[in-house]
Amino acid sequence: MSISIDETICNGCKGLPEARCERICPGDLCYRKENTKAAIRDQSACWTCACCVKECPVQAIELRLPFQICSNGSSLKARLKPDKTIWTVWDAEGHQEEFIIQAKWLKGD
Ligand code: SF4
Ligand code: SF4
Repeated sequence: MSISIDETICNGCKGLPEARCERICPGDLCYRKENTKAAIRDQSACWTCACCVKECPVQAIELRLPFQICSNGSSLKARLKPDKTIWTVWDAEGHQEEFIIQAKWLKGD
């Protein structure tokens, strides 16, 4: 699995001293380049926790899924809401499916 950042979508978390993806990455792998767009330092060091995928407010980051999990070319994005995370998976043909994880389940309520 790997992370992909779409520079056409990333707004660099303009106005924030530290980008959301920078702040959340446990491996300190995300950073902003001189053009303020986000990038990942070392894909091989990423353990695909998907924290940055969830944290990005404009869905610029996606998780590329390996063929062992999905068909080649599949990817996963997330939209974080106060009460849930909405995950969207795309397969290689562009079909998409959403699944929702309620925040209260994550908190163990
Ligand atoms: S969180 Fe998203 S918008 Fe902000 S810098 Fe990272 S990729 Fe860009
Ligand atoms: S998936 Fe996790 S480890 Fe990899 S870049 Fe994103 S936050 Fe960092």
